[in-house]
Amino acid sequence: MTDVSKKQSAELATERTFDYATAPESRDIVQLQDRYGLFIGGEMTDARSGELHPSLNPATEEELAVVSYADAEDVDRAVGAARDAFENVWSKRPPSERAKTLFRIARILQERAREFAVLESLDGGKPIKESRDVDIPLAAAHFFYYAGWADKLEYAFPNARPKPVGVAAQIIPWNFPMLMLAWKIAPALATGNTVVLKPAETTPLSALLFADVLRQAEVPPGVVNIVTGDGRAGAELVKHPGIDKVAFTGSTQVGKEIQRTLAGTNKRLTLELGGKAANIVFDDAPLDQAIEGIVNGIYFNQGHVCCAGSRLLVQESIQEPVIAKLKHRLGRIRVGDPLDKNTDLGAINSREQLDRVRELVAAGVEEGAELYQPPCELPERGYWFAPTVFTGVAQSHRIAREEIFGPVLSVLTFRTPAEAVEKANNTPYGLSAGVWTDKGSRILWMAQRLRAGVVWANTFNRFDPASPFGGYKESGFGREGGRHGLAPYVDISS
Ligand code: NDP
Repeated sequence: MTDVSKKQSAELATERTFDYATAPESRDIVQLQDRYGLFIGGEMTDARSGELHPSLNPATEEELAVVSYADAEDVDRAVGAARDAFENVWSKRPPSERAKTLFRIARILQERAREFAVLESLDGGKPIKESRDVDIPLAAAHFFYYAGWADKLEYAFPNARPKPVGVAAQIIPWNFPMLMLAWKIAPALATGNTVVLKPAETTPLSALLFADVLRQAEVPPGVVNIVTGDGRAGAELVKHPGIDKVAFTGSTQVGKEIQRTLAGTNKRLTLELGGKAANIVFDDAPLDQAIEGIVNGIYFNQGHVCCAGSRLLVQESIQEPVIAKLKHRLGRIRVGDPLDKNTDLGAINSREQLDRVRELVAAGVEEGAELYQPPCELPERGYWFAPTVFTGVAQSHRIAREEIFGPVLSVLTFRTPAEAVEKANNTPYGLSAGVWTDKGSRILWMAQRLRAGVVWANTFNRFDPASPFGGYKESGFGREGGRHGLAPYVDISS
């Protein structure tokens, strides 16, 4: 042990710890129906398929509601409703009226924020402090932001006459259900398109509650249609001939399938896929701040984040203190009831995802990396995984190459900035990266060389509706957010 780490261990040992009393958020604000249909043409309708499945609370395995699974006929009805609304209503609506409608949606989301936050935590397992402070406020912010653009499109696309492309098929994942819904629906509606949205199988409930917001905001029937179901419904939607554009967020594997399906058609496509981001800490970084950034980078939303900082690259000279501080900080992460306002790490979203995390962690141990998990009690029921760090990770290990999508951090080291860039870019993905250093010039030097859609400097996992987000390589293509996020939804060819 070096002198520095000895001193730190002594400091950590004498530090006081705090016990927290539970502070559970009441779930009474959410009124769930026993059974949900599909939201098509402004009405909740029974699925023709007749197929129903429960949506579970991953923290308790309790059944929350029964949800309909759309089949090809249901998808066809939804696309028909969207086409009708596009041709006859929404594309003809003056842009300033579209803006008013989007502003109304944003304000209603703010008014009903607590209801949405509780539901998001119940159905998805994420801590209430994240759904309350991040997911729902950001979803509302996206509607506000794109409401502002609706009647100013000629400034976004100077010397062109932007026209809507038509009916958009939007397929979203389970990690940020409402936020992904807002990322997709807000720019599509602002530019005059109509939508068929397919939420993820394990988190359909907030999108179904959003149907109520659409009615409240007097969005005309058919402008937004919501078809729940599994991957089959998504696949039916992608191949439907009445679709003009597909926007997909999810796994690289399904993204590739969608690309194959669309090859040879003139449907537009944007893909926001996986990632394996490097979070790079230099020896001149403010270490305590960096530790918070590392923790936020990988344990935020249980690591179910496409841009999570899942590979920590630490400069070799500060490896010891960084690991010591990180392990200490991990011991302070509160794991448990997602509705408790003190909880930092909630439940893993589904049994399948938990199995995948376990499989990759077992591979890490098998391949020789050193596993660390702080002592923590996990609830007996539900899907849980302790915050995990692997040290001694080699670039060839699966845990350094594959997206784990769970609360698992792999630590690697580097000596020079050039080596950091080389290692950070040594991945098929390219969604995000983080750089921690005191030197502005080094931040710029690194940002120019990192092949990542977003590079955060001395922070991580920061999002803003005005800022474009998207990937390189197998992380997909196209940008969502910002002025760039309008482009996939407009035709400027004429
Ligand atoms: P998927 O890519 O399967 O799911 C994303 C969305 O696509 C869901 O709505 C899903 O429906 C739908 N879908 C599934 N199959 C098809 C298809 N053939 N055609 C059209 N749509 C389809 O992700 P998984 O839920 O299976 O997660 C697997 C892995 O993907 C994770 O472990 C993680 O690594 C990564 N992932 C990355 C995300 C990101 O944000 N980049 C988000 C989610 C996952 P359904 O839910 O009903 O299956």
